[in-house]
Amino acid sequence: MLPGMTDSQTAATPQASMRAIRVERLGPPDVMQLQDTPVPSPAPGEVRVRVEAVGINFADALAVAGEYLTRTRVPYTPGMEFAGIVDALGEGVQGVQVGTRVAALGGSGAMAEYATVPAAGLIPVPQTLSGAQAAAFPVSYFTAYHGLKTLGRGEAGEWVLVQAAAGALGTASIQLAKALGMNVIALASTDEKLEIARTLGADVTILQDDPDRVKKVRDAAGGKGVPLILEVVGGKRFQESLDMAASRGRIIVIGNASREQANLRPVELMKRNLTVTGLWLTSLMSDVPATAEAARVLAELVGSGKVIPQVGPTYALDQSVQAFEDLLNRRTTGKVIIEPGR
Ligand code: NDP
Repeated sequence: MLPGMTDSQTAATPQASMRAIRVERLGPPDVMQLQDTPVPSPAPGEVRVRVEAVGINFADALAVAGEYLTRTRVPYTPGMEFAGIVDALGEGVQGVQVGTRVAALGGSGAMAEYATVPAAGLIPVPQTLSGAQAAAFPVSYFTAYHGLKTLGRGEAGEWVLVQAAAGALGTASIQLAKALGMNVIALASTDEKLEIARTLGADVTILQDDPDRVKKVRDAAGGKGVPLILEVVGGKRFQESLDMAASRGRIIVIGNASREQANLRPVELMKRNLTVTGLWLTSLMSDVPATAEAARVLAELVGSGKVIPQVGPTYALDQSVQAFEDLLNRRTTGKVIIEPGR
């Protein structure tokens, strides 16, 4: 038993060591190595979770590459969002039951059989969700909500443009936008991906390499352009987002999947009274009222089954390099999941 615990605070004591992904130098996905490491003990205020599923985000691949918004300190174990069964409670933790399924959003450390997380970082999930569905939920759905509502101020009946529409954030954004009564134009790179977008309720789907994409998007939104754009591709596509926007359009910059620099000429914003707003979930999480409002709406929509987290391809821990490469090379749809117990 771990120091500071009673029998009621810990499930069956796990083995002393576990398998975890370790990164000792930054680079492409193959810098990730599977190693045996000690099972972590929860510090005061922390919870230990037996990890059932890890949600792999574009940000995880950027962090391993050393290209993320914050500096990645090595050595470390990647993995920021996960779900699993609460296994042990650190000193002082109250209101969390050993044996319940939780989702969690932390900085790193989830690509392992066990992970510790501050109890404050736990996200309650309906117990009807599978581990993989729960792991697919936090990052994509909170980001989608903040893009559509908190920062995007989208209203029922308005058009919204969703890029990379079959991806983890894209599928979340379509589902949420439709549940909130918005009209969705979806862009993606293949017909198969557009079919996924249509299945989730997208009203108009357009190939992202269609030579007439700017006109088609503007026409779809009544010929006047789109009032709200969730911009995740960046690079030269950012300029196109400006061209697709309606007068007074709101462009929410959420990602840069192209990993290319974009050019922004501020006078262009003046001409059509456009607004460009950055969105980073990590910093928004410390906005307590905004997070509480997002959690309230999402809990209702997920709890009622109106919104179902989209699980994409699943991999074992020893297939992590493949999982990251598939995500970076646009071969995945929905949320990429790693199941450490497999
Ligand atoms: P996805 O599951 O959406 O996968 C990335 C997708 O980006 C690809 O499938 C691809 O879709 C699209 N894409 C477009 N251009 C490229 C390119 N040149 N190379 C690779 N992919 C490209 O990943 P996520 O849901 O994890 O993330 C989507 C975006 O949102 C990322 O930019 C990510 O960083 C960002 N994000 C930002 C957050 C924030 O807090 N700001 C939080 C969550 C996500 P297609 O083939 O259809 O073009």
